[in-house]
Amino acid sequence: MRVIVIGAGVAGLALARGLLHAGHEVEVYEEAPELRTAGGSVTLWPGSTAILEELKADYSGIGRRLETMESWARDGRRLLTIDLTVPERRYGHPTVHVARSELVELLADGVPVTYGAAAEHVVPERAEVRLAGGRTVRGDVLVGADGRRSAVRRALWGDDPAALSGWVTWQGFTTRPTALTEERRAVMIAGGNGLCGLIPAGGDRLLWWFDVRSAPGKPFWSDDPHVADRLRERFGDWAEPVPGILGSLDDIDFFPHHRHAIPGVWGKGPTTLAGDSAHTMPPTMAQGANQALEDAWLLTRSLGDLRGYERARSKVVRRPARLAATEATNMQSGWVGLLPDGLVTGFYTALLRRYSNRLLTAS
Ligand SMILES: Cc1cc2nc3c(=O)[nH]c(=O)nc-3n(C[C@H](O)[C@H](O)[C@H](O)COP(=O)(O)OP(=O)(O)OC[C@H]3O[C@@H](n4cnc5c(N)ncnc54)[C@H](O)[C@@H]3O)c2cc1C
Repeated sequence: MRVIVIGAGVAGLALARGLLHAGHEVEVYEEAPELRTAGGSVTLWPGSTAILEELKADYSGIGRRLETMESWARDGRRLLTIDLTVPERRYGHPTVHVARSELVELLADGVPVTYGAAAEHVVPERAEVRLAGGRTVRGDVLVGADGRRSAVRRALWGDDPAALSGWVTWQGFTTRPTALTEERRAVMIAGGNGLCGLIPAGGDRLLWWFDVRSAPGKPFWSDDPHVADRLRERFGDWAEPVPGILGSLDDIDFFPHHRHAIPGVWGKGPTTLAGDSAHTMPPTMAQGANQALEDAWLLTRSLGDLRGYERARSKVVRRPARLAATEATNMQSGWVGLLPDGLVTGFYTALLRRYSNRLLTAS
């Protein structure tokens, strides 16, 4: 089949890779002039590392394999440890944390992408797209993998922009040595007035981020020129390593949290969606890139049954999307420390399967 993919993010690139391996003809159109490598880093759960292996995307040289995910109190006490080697053994694939730039570069290798080609007018019923510059392309199948502001979704469902969740992330990488940089631990520190997260991303990089409540026009919004000072005011009295991180805020990135309503059926006729265009969600459950890979994996196998693909994915992706939208992980407090590590590890291991069509299919 001839498949037109709009957008060269995680969803579009992974899908194109899978379809090319399956022998389809694929054209990817991306509005940016080159691969968009901005952003922080992403955690890839075992379902996703399994998918990367099937896509022959060798991730062994990038990122950092994680062994634990820990919740700490703001005074530095460890409250809870989830043992990520348990799902790794159960599902046969690791959890890896990797810079978004490295993930998209890995997926883009060997995929033909036409850059500077924004989809401007979409006719879903005919799998047809007019691109910037006036050229029109048509396929047997059209996939909108064009992210949160998807033009394909708009053509399918009208204007239903993703809503702000009320929380935002300020993030960046530090190469300043910390005790965590060389380790395999993801640490989340929640303290009532926000959350600080720290995850080694491979090499000498540590991803840091602060999640805070904010809204347009309020402190902590993108136009706040004093955000580094505000973060220091709010988090400066937390235990190390937080003050150390606050002392090395170089390039600070802004990432507002959005969420979409997720319909049961995403497409019409020969047109469907994949990734954030179908289900933007806040990054709090670390599921955005994973769910994009899940879409790509299932759609590669379901090209002849697009509504079946949408129904199967919609059922699964709504689970993490609902939880992410509550932003509950940003508000956890001391009671988390009362939970037994083994029980929560078992629960989380089961949850990862419920969030993954790839893992659900395997068992
Ligand atoms: C530059 C960037 C930085 C990001 N940073 C983070 C981050 O720090 N943390 C995080 O959790 N998530 C981040 N994300 C989102 C994360 O990548 C996604 O949630 C997840 O990977 C799902 O990917 P996706 O391919 O569905 O969407 P995206 O990664 O958003 O990719 C969509 C692609 O479609 C292209 N596109 C959009 N409209 C059109 C059009 N009309 N025509 C052609 N192409 C179009 C975009 O340029 C983009 O390359 C970022 C996304 C981008 C694009």
